[in-house]
Amino acid sequence: MSDAGHAPEPLMRMRLRVEQDVFVVRQMGREVARAVGMEQQDQTRLATALSEVGRVMLTFGHGADVTFEAVPSGVPTLRVKVVNSHPGDAAEVRMQLGQVGRLVDTLEVSDDEAGTVVGMARRLPASVPRLTPERMDDIRAGLAQHVPGTPLDELSVQNQQLIAALDEVRAQRDDLSRLNAELEETNRGVMALYNQLSQELEETNRGVVALYAELDEKSEQLRTVSEAKSRFLANVSHELRAPVTAVIGLARLLGDPASEPLGDEQRRQVDLISSSANDLLTLVNDLLDLAKAEAGRIEPEWSEVDLRAVFGQLRGTLRPLATRPEVDFMVEEPSPLSLSLYTDEVLLARVLRNLLTNAIKFTAEGEVRLAVRTVDDDIEFTVSDTGTGIPAELHERIFEEFYQVPRSRAITGKGTGLGLPYARRLVGILGGGLRVDSEPGRGSTFTVRLPLTRP
Ligand code: ADP
Repeated sequence: MSDAGHAPEPLMRMRLRVEQDVFVVRQMGREVARAVGMEQQDQTRLATALSEVGRVMLTFGHGADVTFEAVPSGVPTLRVKVVNSHPGDAAEVRMQLGQVGRLVDTLEVSDDEAGTVVGMARRLPASVPRLTPERMDDIRAGLAQHVPGTPLDELSVQNQQLIAALDEVRAQRDDLSRLNAELEETNRGVMALYNQLSQELEETNRGVVALYAELDEKSEQLRTVSEAKSRFLANVSHELRAPVTAVIGLARLLGDPASEPLGDEQRRQVDLISSSANDLLTLVNDLLDLAKAEAGRIEPEWSEVDLRAVFGQLRGTLRPLATRPEVDFMVEEPSPLSLSLYTDEVLLARVLRNLLTNAIKFTAEGEVRLAVRTVDDDIEFTVSDTGTGIPAELHERIFEEFYQVPRSRAITGKGTGLGLPYARRLVGILGGGLRVDSEPGRGSTFTVRLPLTRP
């Protein structure tokens, strides 16, 4: 593509004939670069590149024409073209120029029919005033008046430039070594920090490992102790059952009409023995149940359980307990969605009976109600009453063994404080959970949540 279309009139032309001209062309190159607004360093680069090109072109012995052009459009650029009148030198010139291209933005060597052409371009800095036609005229006029100095002048300018360049190199080297020192310092700091951090991490890790070891040891101890407790409870209650049953039998025998008649006081004492022995038997049985459940000795018998049957049975067996007319005892009919579930029928009935017995025990008036409904993939049984209620802070404590709410007196019957922990264990074995909502004076609702299908 030719530049002629939009390239304005060249800024300057000159001819290279003898070696001395190389100095002149160098000077003029710097002068043009300065005139169009290049910085000092760029002026030197361009001048050096140009003198190298001039020197190489002259070695072919044909002389050369040098043209300086400023391109104002786009990114303003200064172009220099050096043409000799001997086509076919391009490859050789290119080789001899070697690294000169690094001094400018582009350097191209080509052959055209008139001769070998070297074209160089260097962008002008953004801060340069616009190259209007008027400004170009001024630059042209300024350059026309410039009188080239002697080679000696050029040598002294070159020396000064060399000194300046050396100074700059030295300053850069100083900067570099200062930066290196800083970098080294920073690296040392980072390494120290890194070492400190990894040391701290290692210490923390050691601490955590030790803590875990201790925790493992403690839970192992806890498990052993808990197993020992369950074994002890199971053994003791089992051993107690036989003598207590014997005491009950003997008391019944003593009170039997067929036996020797008893005096009033004797009868009273025999009744006392009998009722105490019965209480003891309940406690022993409860303990045995709980110990068995805790020791994992209860294996559920899974089957599809018909809830209408379970509810019917509960209704029948518990109604005799709920005889007070002030309390409505209600066992709702299971809805069509909650007619059956996959569980252990005996354990489920035991849990619900336990909760219903408690509700009846602690309700003076109002109602006791058993209901069932499905919730997502689960089934929920609720045993609600309008009884004494339980303070919120004791909602978890009532599930501890032997815990009974202080001053909560059962309306009927006594208790051992083992019913709820046992019920929660059984529900756990069935793969579900047991929770309570209750408020003193308003009543309680115990909720058993179980999976509908096999856990
Ligand atoms: P207990 O044999 O004493 O009933 P539980 O473990 O079944 O033992 O219950 C523990 C305690 O929780 C009871 O002593 C009672 O204070 C309280 N409690 C349980 N159910 C109810 C209820 N429905 N209403 C009020 N308090 C209850």
